[in-house]
Amino acid sequence: MTEERRRGREGGREGGREGGRGRERGAEEEILGYLKALVKVPTFVPPGENYGEIVDWLVPIFEGFGFECERVEMPEAVFKERQKTAELSGARVNLLATKDFGVAETVVIYTHLDVVPAGEGWSTPPFPAEPVVKDGRVYGRGVADSKGAVAALLTALNKMKERGLESRYNIRVALTTDEELGLYSGLCYFADEGLLQGDFLLCMDGDNEGVCVATDGVLNWELKVCGQSCHSSVPFLGVNAVEAAGLVIGELASLKKKVESRESRAACSPRMSELTGRRHTTAVFNVTMVSGGVKENIIPASCTLRGDRRYIPEERVEVVVQEFEEAVENIRRRHGLELELRCEPGFPPMFTDPDEDWVKRVQAAASNSFGVQKEIIGVQGGLDVGYAVQKTGQPVCAFGVGSSVESNAHGADENVRLQDLENYVRFLVRLLGSTSTK
Ligand SMILES: [Zn+2]
Repeated sequence: MTEERRRGREGGREGGREGGRGRERGAEEEILGYLKALVKVPTFVPPGENYGEIVDWLVPIFEGFGFECERVEMPEAVFKERQKTAELSGARVNLLATKDFGVAETVVIYTHLDVVPAGEGWSTPPFPAEPVVKDGRVYGRGVADSKGAVAALLTALNKMKERGLESRYNIRVALTTDEELGLYSGLCYFADEGLLQGDFLLCMDGDNEGVCVATDGVLNWELKVCGQSCHSSVPFLGVNAVEAAGLVIGELASLKKKVESRESRAACSPRMSELTGRRHTTAVFNVTMVSGGVKENIIPASCTLRGDRRYIPEERVEVVVQEFEEAVENIRRRHGLELELRCEPGFPPMFTDPDEDWVKRVQAAASNSFGVQKEIIGVQGGLDVGYAVQKTGQPVCAFGVGSSVESNAHGADENVRLQDLENYVRFLVRLLGSTSTK
């Protein structure tokens, strides 16, 4: 562990004084109050059953800040066609909260209301009735990803109201469903319905490692290797699909090597660079699942490989698919195998020019509020906001509340530092608030 990382961790243990901005008791209580109410509602997906409840709780609060609220439910037909699986149930209720401050520019502020299921290994209750605060951190499913940001937004709006601060932007808040599932989230529906009008987008999903302007696109794939079954004592009378799949995985290594040497313009976070020596985000090719065979003494008739291909913003999905198909065709020809490839594109990549004015504004507000320089970065994970800005063409920055390593989002004991929550409130007030009168 480097000196810098060690210091960072110790800072965390002491209650996260990294950033050195001091703590405010009133703000802490307020933000914890909001966060408690949000975390208590189990919006984990699957199944995603309680969106209506959390939106109903949010509406009067936004109305108290002078916002007009719309409870936007994804129509059942759209949900069925594009998202629904057997494990999902309940209405897909989203919130759109808007306030026109009579100024020239509009910002769309987005994050998701769903969380991943609790999973095992927690040392505190994942959905506590009271917030669990230990050593300067709050614990619970979703505190970092991404309900902490919602609590911070409410606190920031309240602060602005109390201080009589006008907003520099008209504000359009989109708090939506099913981000953690991929496919067709509430935000995708908002984008398709034209509900995201505005000049810029601030995505509060993500971590606070840097101001993220680039993500990789996602393509899931399935490759069926076909064989011919027979008695295992005479394997030469059939074709062993599992053994053939092993051969195919070996052959795909050259595609993987070629793909993963492809670098984006987007820089990695300083932390990622420090850990891995990488400077830029890259494309990715993974084989992540193998399934085949029925019994030890049956030569398997088929074996299915699955995986994902993440492509950098500079790549085009059509070319990505074509390159994959050609690689599979070569393997087919070389080994005389019967192969069936199916590609299913997920969220597209996103890329905003780091020189965009919006990026500079977000970076300045973030750096100032957290007391450290927040770099402009890219990540290799996909976001539904990639889908949204492909439609809207808005400059987008993703900057979240938690730490990519310490918060353990999606894992046991998900947590967020109180100091980070407070810094995030400051960030929002600094970004949105204006002292000038209309
Ligand atoms: Zn998230």
